[in-house]
Amino acid sequence: MTISFKEMGLAQPLLQATEALGYTLATPVQEQVIPAALIGGDWMVSSQTGSGKTAAFLLPLLNKLIAANPNNKPVPGRAEPQVLILCPTRELAQQVTADAINLVKFAKGIRIATIMGGMPYGKQISQIKGANLVVATPGRLLDLSNSRSIRLDKVQCMIIDEADRMLDLGFQDDIEAIHQLCADRDQTLMFSATFAPRIMQLATSLMNNPGRIELASAGHKHENISQTLHWADSIAHKHKLLSHWLSDPTMEQAVVFASTQADSETIADSLRADGYDATALHGAMPQAVRNRRLQSLRKGQTRILVATDVAARGIDVPTITHVINFGLPMKAEDYVHRIGRTGRAGRSGVAITLAEHRDRSKIRAIEQYTQQQLQAEVIPGLEPSEKSRKPTSRPGSGGRPGRSFGGKGASNSSNRQGQGQGQGEGKTFKQNHFAKPTGPKFGGSGKPSSGPKFGGSGKPSSSPKRTFA
Ligand code: AMP
Repeated sequence: MTISFKEMGLAQPLLQATEALGYTLATPVQEQVIPAALIGGDWMVSSQTGSGKTAAFLLPLLNKLIAANPNNKPVPGRAEPQVLILCPTRELAQQVTADAINLVKFAKGIRIATIMGGMPYGKQISQIKGANLVVATPGRLLDLSNSRSIRLDKVQCMIIDEADRMLDLGFQDDIEAIHQLCADRDQTLMFSATFAPRIMQLATSLMNNPGRIELASAGHKHENISQTLHWADSIAHKHKLLSHWLSDPTMEQAVVFASTQADSETIADSLRADGYDATALHGAMPQAVRNRRLQSLRKGQTRILVATDVAARGIDVPTITHVINFGLPMKAEDYVHRIGRTGRAGRSGVAITLAEHRDRSKIRAIEQYTQQQLQAEVIPGLEPSEKSRKPTSRPGSGGRPGRSFGGKGASNSSNRQGQGQGQGEGKTFKQNHFAKPTGPKFGGSGKPSSGPKFGGSGKPSSSPKRTFA
């Protein structure tokens, strides 16, 4: 039985907020992380994008802040936060901030601020005065710390969100420096898609005997997202396939991923020329423009966002029904983050990948990483040539899985069109990562009734491994 937020012992204002947000039950990651983080100690968590991980770390931290300020006293106007959340990208930092603001709506005396590059310094410096919880990207945070605009020695808890992405973006040294600046903290939580060796190394240098909570592996099937591959002969062929999917009547909003910044502009231009409501988003744009474009997507004013991997994480817009990989990601794990932009919060979604013959090794890498085969299909009238549909050898299949590339795929495809297959139907709730996991149960007290043991310090005596792959 899933435990409720109330059973976890969360403060009343947080219960009100979860109710107002429509969170009736905790998601699996919340069910595991909230009680663990409330008990204390350091935790490494692997969880899938879109699983509710943000609230999983925000709720226990906000609970601690509320408990520490029972009289809702106004906070002094010093820039000395008690909670620090580090995010790899500005988009993710903004999303986490927005979630935190929603969750403290009914709590008085808790202030949230964001620190990130691309925004004016003066405004940020005045906003962080009196903030209890700061969400930051590492570079700007260190800038403000170096200029003594913020002190980090009062931080009690630090969260590193998307640690794998942090390392990809070269933030290791910055994180180490921030770790030193808040060395007196008593809790660190680290979230990552995987526990690859480099992540474990980072954890060893930052954390104290961390417990492990594993909720999803890269091989998680994303069962609420239908994933399809189309082989294409050329860029022009890809444009036709793209157009086909963007005309899908079930499409509410789509994110089209491009491999490069220039490509994202070109594809958006060409879609606009064809009469689509499309806009580009990439990291070379001024932050104010990025913000405006994201806001417009959130408000439903933009239907199609053509983006680089800057948008692969952190965008949480439940009405995104389709993700289309026009250009393939550089790294296989980014595929998982990209498709996680759809199928949010229990909805279903459609992920389409357009690949040319030369992309075969990238498709293989994605299949190996996700440990599942991408189903190749053809659209009648838009079939690829024989050469383009040459199959890849599939991980673990040993056979020739390309059989569905031919006529069978075509009939599947037309069936799909006819029956809709629940694509983007928003209301089709399938078994997915919001579903209950099997594994150790928590009793009504919100404490683990079996499984890892906690010593007197409130920390696990060894690094317990809980796997819900
Ligand atoms: P995240 O993985 O944090 O990006 O969250 C994905 C989506 O799930 C967001 O839209 C959240 O608002 C939503 N969400 C988080 N927790 C819950 C919950 N307990 N019930 C329903 N939706 C949730």
